[in-house]
Amino acid sequence: MKNRAIFLDRDGTIIEEVGYLSRLSDIRFLEGAAEGIKLFNKAQFKVIVVTNQSGVARGFFSEGFVHKVHQKISEYLSQKGAHIDAWYYCPHHIEGKVSQYSFDCPCRKPSPGMIKKACKEFNIDLRQSFVVGDSEKDIKLALNVGAKPVLVTTGYGKETYQKLDQDIKEKLAFKVDSLKELASLICEF
Ligand SMILES: [Mg+2]
Ligand SMILES: [Zn+2]
Repeated sequence: MKNRAIFLDRDGTIIEEVGYLSRLSDIRFLEGAAEGIKLFNKAQFKVIVVTNQSGVARGFFSEGFVHKVHQKISEYLSQKGAHIDAWYYCPHHIEGKVSQYSFDCPCRKPSPGMIKKACKEFNIDLRQSFVVGDSEKDIKLALNVGAKPVLVTTGYGKETYQKLDQDIKEKLAFKVDSLKELASLICEF
């Protein structure tokens, strides 16, 4: 049997959007994030983070720092009884400053590279899966891979909703204020 997955954006969805997070002390969890993830775990969704981290290509921080952030988030979640099954990030950007990271990457959202990779690793049924985020890139990613798009109103989410074309708005599976709210809508026990 195939797995259902929740693909989560990181900044503005799990933790506060601070604009190129570059200090561990700036990590702040959004309300209901850990509780939501715990419920997704319990409902046997694979919980997979897919995050653009072009701050690496732009020279703001290293890939090592990105790993440290993910470790810190994992530690916090484990204290709350929740976990992330896999982390994928794209450190690239076509207009970066650091040459080895500066190209048009097929993993950068809304391109489907990270989700394609996850599907190979986890045997995922995309039509039964959700892509959750606060930006238009997350919503377009969902539509590009045939998963269900969910907009969170945290981070850039409120602005994103106002700017979304009407036809895309109509394709949203849900618009929610927190991951906990999403869990209450989709998790059955
Ligand atoms: Mg975001
Ligand atoms: Zn990439």
